Amino acid sequence: MSRVLIIGCGGVAQVAIAKCCQNSEVFKEIMIASRTKSKCDAVKEKLQPTTKTVIETAHVDADNVDEVIALINSYKPDAVLNVALPYQDLTIMDACLACNVHYIDTANYEPEDTNDPKWRAIYEKRCKDLGFSAYFDYSWQWAYEEKFKNAGLTALCGTGFDPGVTSVFVAYAKKHYFDEIDTVDILDCNGGDHGYPFATNFNPEINLREVSAPGSYMENGKWIEVPAMSIKREYDFPEVGMKDMYLLHHEEIEALGRNFPEIKRIRFFMTFGQSYLTHMKCLENVGMLGTEPVEFEGNQIVPIQFLRRLLPDPASLGPRTVGKTNIGCIFTGVKDGKERTLYIYNVCDHQECYKEVGSQAISYTTGVPAMIGTMMVLKGLWKRPGVFTVEEFDPDPYMEALNKWGLPWQVDENPVLVD
Ligand code: NDP
Repeated sequence: MSRVLIIGCGGVAQVAIAKCCQNSEVFKEIMIASRTKSKCDAVKEKLQPTTKTVIETAHVDADNVDEVIALINSYKPDAVLNVALPYQDLTIMDACLACNVHYIDTANYEPEDTNDPKWRAIYEKRCKDLGFSAYFDYSWQWAYEEKFKNAGLTALCGTGFDPGVTSVFVAYAKKHYFDEIDTVDILDCNGGDHGYPFATNFNPEINLREVSAPGSYMENGKWIEVPAMSIKREYDFPEVGMKDMYLLHHEEIEALGRNFPEIKRIRFFMTFGQSYLTHMKCLENVGMLGTEPVEFEGNQIVPIQFLRRLLPDPASLGPRTVGKTNIGCIFTGVKDGKERTLYIYNVCDHQECYKEVGSQAISYTTGVPAMIGTMMVLKGLWKRPGVFTVEEFDPDPYMEALNKWGLPWQVDENPVLVD
């Protein structure tokens, strides 16, 4: 049916590619293009004998719009799935517009150089106007709305697990369970153990930037920002057990706040063990999370990028990680005049994921929805001109696809709430 260009070949991409290859009826032909072509070739070598999907590979530097344009023009895909880094969102969107193809990603735009004065001025104004200080936000991609609309193209932003599935859970809860949702708590629990003293489950640079930043949540349409890791709760997660979790800023809060303005409070919590937090604090204290270049023996190095080189590659954690993830949303609200509560969640087993596609569950829970979101656009089920996040479409076909493609979800109508 379709031809898709997949940009990036890291942990998430490798799952998305494996899932496209299981779904050859939709993904007839794919091209894997990334900065390091040898990784794309290795994935092709592994998967081609197992699938009817015809796989090609290419080198691309997605920071360079002209390179992406040239590649799209030569391959002529129906859509581009961006599973590189958030740094490349805008260049790839520009290239899609220039070549008239649909765009899909899993994370909103974030600049690589947070000291770029042009970006910084806009960022500082946004911090003041909106009240949260994360480096990433949707304004950069929402600014493409008119361009995508006029071109008759769909840009689907944030189809990973969180953002992604969690936002679809909100749309599903609203459609089937509530007349009015009052509060949403998004809970991201990783009960997995990879056996290393310290490693991140997805790109270390993006991950550490995210969790070392101040936390924030939305209440009555306004952002409330708190110091990093200052709000802690305990929760007994189904199939995982009791875990400490901390309030973080997370990008889906922004989009959900815009698309469901009636929700009075939206929070996001992620579980962390004490050892992870101690390592992170220490790295932060000694300056290893810095994003500004420092001079070292005549070379300019960015501390967090150097740290990334030292840490295990997230794509290599698969064989060693045991345990389960549990990610979902707890809702309170009203249906037919009565108060009700609800918990929709998915449990994913690291070793089951490894057996199926050779990856741990964090890459799996992101890569599967990346394939599903792309399929929604290709099949025309989620295809409207403009820039969208996933909760703006009918959740039902996506929820059905989650069950079919490896991320079955459960509904608990009497959950313990988070205070
Ligand atoms: P990795 O670091 O494992 O992979 C990133 C890939 O992008 C690598 O193959 C890398 O190439 C490639 N890449 C980086 N820069 C460029 C460039 N300029 N041009 C072409 N390719 C490039 O990251 P992950 O797979 O862990 O994460 C991928 C994306 O998924 C990120 O945007 C992340 O934020 C997002 N994510 C979303 C989640 C969600 O639930 N929504 C959860 C987890 C991640 P090379 O091999 O040369 O380094």
